[in-house]
Amino acid sequence: MQHGEPIRRIVIAGGGTAGWMAAAVIARALPTQQVTVTLVESPQIGTVGVGEATIPPILTLNRLLGLDEDELVRRTGATFKLGIEFSNWGQIGERYFHPFGQYGADLNGIHFHHHWLATQGMTGNTPLDEYSMTIAAARANRFIRPPEDSRHVHSRLAYALHFDAVRYAEYLAEQAKARGVVHLQRRIEGAERDARGHVAALRLDEGDRLEGDLFIDCSGFRGLLIEETMATGYEDWSHWLPMDRALAVPSTPTLPRTPYTRATAGSAGWRWRIPLQHRTGNGHVYCSAHLSDDEAADQLLKGLDAPALADPRPLRFTTGRRRRMWNGNVVALGLAAGFVEPLESTSIHLIQRGVVTLMSLFPDRGFAQADVDQYNRLMAAEFEQVRDFIILHYHLTRRDDSPFWNQVRTMAVPDSLRQRLELFASHGRVFVERGELFTETSWVAVMLGQGLLPRRADPVAMAMPRDQIAAQLVRMRDLVRRGAEGMPTHDQFIERHCRAD
Ligand code: FAD
Repeated sequence: MQHGEPIRRIVIAGGGTAGWMAAAVIARALPTQQVTVTLVESPQIGTVGVGEATIPPILTLNRLLGLDEDELVRRTGATFKLGIEFSNWGQIGERYFHPFGQYGADLNGIHFHHHWLATQGMTGNTPLDEYSMTIAAARANRFIRPPEDSRHVHSRLAYALHFDAVRYAEYLAEQAKARGVVHLQRRIEGAERDARGHVAALRLDEGDRLEGDLFIDCSGFRGLLIEETMATGYEDWSHWLPMDRALAVPSTPTLPRTPYTRATAGSAGWRWRIPLQHRTGNGHVYCSAHLSDDEAADQLLKGLDAPALADPRPLRFTTGRRRRMWNGNVVALGLAAGFVEPLESTSIHLIQRGVVTLMSLFPDRGFAQADVDQYNRLMAAEFEQVRDFIILHYHLTRRDDSPFWNQVRTMAVPDSLRQRLELFASHGRVFVERGELFTETSWVAVMLGQGLLPRRADPVAMAMPRDQIAAQLVRMRDLVRRGAEGMPTHDQFIERHCRAD
């Protein structure tokens, strides 16, 4: 395509979660008279087939796509997620909760956790968790959708979904096809490039060609277009995040279904437990340099709380990201763009960020280098923020019971993370810049949860009338307790509103 020619033919390579999310968003945003969207996937190759836990921004995407949430929950066998419970991360036997939403409420423009630190010893040493509506609900296995009225205590709740990602992709496929997306079930054999090095067409099985102006690579880890065709290069982050394998296994569902994910650390990795309506998703992410596949499978199966429904499925990965996620006329999304282990359930979110960012820079004619550079800058930052937050969980451990934990506890961390740790260690301060995914609550939950206590409380919070603040904190705590009692159980909520058939 010559520079400046209109972009009318969009080709999506791959029909996993990434491919269908891209197709659904593009079909919603751009009228099909203006562009054609064709998605090619090979059922013989299949999808990665895991990816069950999400974070709150997914609700915004679902709304943008016009999806009814109860219908979506029914169709995907979903449950609600209020956060993640981490066990054995700081030390074996310790537990903490990373909630969505906020702790308490900020007072006089100062973040809540500073008041909590400043009034230690004045509120009966109430743990920070007891000021979180979300944690109170999670611990009691309760759930309700937060009302819009911000005066209502339940409005402090924030949530996401656990869903069957394969069913989610199928549901989005229906929406996308209804809006005109063409679906081809064909194998991609390779790609042809034009004189500028852009992809001109896909070579399909049986000798067919599929031409396009913009190609979205959603082909999974291999990166069929972004890597095999465009040789973009990969930034490897294994020196910080050495996990390189996973085993995934479903088990029969158990009641009550917890409205949260569990992440339990083992000797060289961690196991997830994600309750769905029709099954529980389980997995073990581990470091093959420290744990054999057999030992990993053994730890996973021994940790199940119900019978397995299949044999554990092995997956291999290298943590990192493509050097450029937009290269020429190829944009990589999903596993083709990069991968950071699912400890904070961020992969589907990064697909969402990728496709929404692409829409905000969508080229109508040719490809302006400024658009491409901006996309690459923004997406690199998104991946790096997730990377730092995940490294935090490993580096802040106090565990010394295995060579793996000794390695990650003592490793050098990125400067961006080291600065955050130093700021928090001195006065409990967290600075979150505009557009960052993880909030103050997230950083505070993990840093305190893993045992990093600030040396001193914030002097401005200390200078406030602390007796009055402590009394306000006690009132907030009581409100949270009563708020959780007033909710239906998570299972009741599902049964009443969105039980899968
Ligand atoms: P895939 O699912 O691999 O899809 C690739 C597509 O490309 C398929 O349709 C395939 O048929 C097609 N394809 C490939 N080659 C060809 C070819 N030659 N011709 C035609 N078609 C082709 N994310 C979360 O948000 N939360 C989680 O809890 C979570 N847990 C995870 C756990 C593990 C162990 C792993 C590995 C990932 C997890 N993820 C999670 C990530 C999540 O699974 C992926 O981000 C998501 O499924 C997107 O995958 P994808 O669509 O990029 O790739």
